[in-house]
Amino acid sequence: MRAGPSQEDIRRHNLGALLRHVHLGGPISRAELTSRMGLNRSTIMALTSDLTAAGLVREELPRETGRAGRPSLVVRPESSRVYVFAFDVGPDRLAAARVGLGGVILDRRELPRARGPFELGELVGVLAGFARQMRRKTRPDTVCVGAAAAVSGGVRKGDGVITFGPNLMTPEREVPFGEELGRRLGLGLPVSVGNDANLGALAEHSRGVGVSVKDLIYLHGDVGIGGGIIAGGHLLGGHDGYGGEVGHMVVNPGGRACGCGSHGCLEAEVGERALLEAAGRTQAGQNGEAQNGDAQSGKHGREAVRAVVDAADRGDIVAQEALKRVGDWLGLGVANLINIFNPEMLIFGGMLREIYLGSAARVRSQLTLHAMAPQRERLRLRTSALADDATLVGAAELAFAHVLADPLEVLARAGS
Ligand SMILES: [Zn+2]
Repeated sequence: MRAGPSQEDIRRHNLGALLRHVHLGGPISRAELTSRMGLNRSTIMALTSDLTAAGLVREELPRETGRAGRPSLVVRPESSRVYVFAFDVGPDRLAAARVGLGGVILDRRELPRARGPFELGELVGVLAGFARQMRRKTRPDTVCVGAAAAVSGGVRKGDGVITFGPNLMTPEREVPFGEELGRRLGLGLPVSVGNDANLGALAEHSRGVGVSVKDLIYLHGDVGIGGGIIAGGHLLGGHDGYGGEVGHMVVNPGGRACGCGSHGCLEAEVGERALLEAAGRTQAGQNGEAQNGDAQSGKHGREAVRAVVDAADRGDIVAQEALKRVGDWLGLGVANLINIFNPEMLIFGGMLREIYLGSAARVRSQLTLHAMAPQRERLRLRTSALADDATLVGAAELAFAHVLADPLEVLARAGS
């Protein structure tokens, strides 16, 4: 017979749950915690004093309550003391942030990068350099409790190995990115790694437009298109961690060639290249591996996509036709996703934010044609609230996940 959870297990679970409330919801009174967590006052008091002693939260008297009697203490995250490092490796930029408990971005660094394959040592060198610069500026009593990175590629579950990422590296190579970044950071902490679209979904679900939405789909567009699916409040990872690769759902059999070897994938019909080509904005011979500096000069990347949407708004017929074409394929892809997953909300992030804003009517008309009515009627279509920070914020949440699972253990290890 299996024994039930021990007192210690229950305490650990409750500490994590309380810290999660404070981390995601911000300052909250003990009285509110008592009602939200369904625990009695003395248990809440014991849990908060454990977390206070560990330096994870602090308790304060609230400002004017306007009510008579003794006010309930407010529990706040120790945002400036307890932090994680979050990294984002996108096709056009490298970003890093120091993020405090409670999700506060305390410091950040960013560098535009040229597209195409990278050399692992050079990449982790840049990221570790960012972390070192930010760490130098911290007070001595601060403590780093985790690190995580979002990458625009496939990440194998469990070991942070990037197994594919045509926009990041040479195909067919297994890159031990998490391990190498952890070694170069030298913090004695493992680095968690996640796919950028999956982490964008996590970010919008935790802190963005999808807070309290249990079933959502986040579509992330960069050069390619990725997806993150939250079902019943949990990220759908799949057996090996590659779940949500909706960019390679075929919407147009026999259509445009895709980097994956197939034809007519959502990514091939809706991605940046499809839009720029349809709008007549790519030069002959450009094959997606543009030269250094092109991202900044607006020949590709989000600026170039934005420029097409702006031109369409100003009445440019070619830009309008390009958006219509791309919007139709996007709507068809979304219709399929809605029929399968029945999400409450679908969020457009990365450059799909711009594309959706420029083609919303086409997307909706495809949904009317192809999505089943019961799934479609209550669906909310939204754009990312976190915009260009979605993937970075998601990486921070991934780094905090260990702390929320076992607050005191993680802090003991980080402090040793
Ligand atoms: Zn494909």
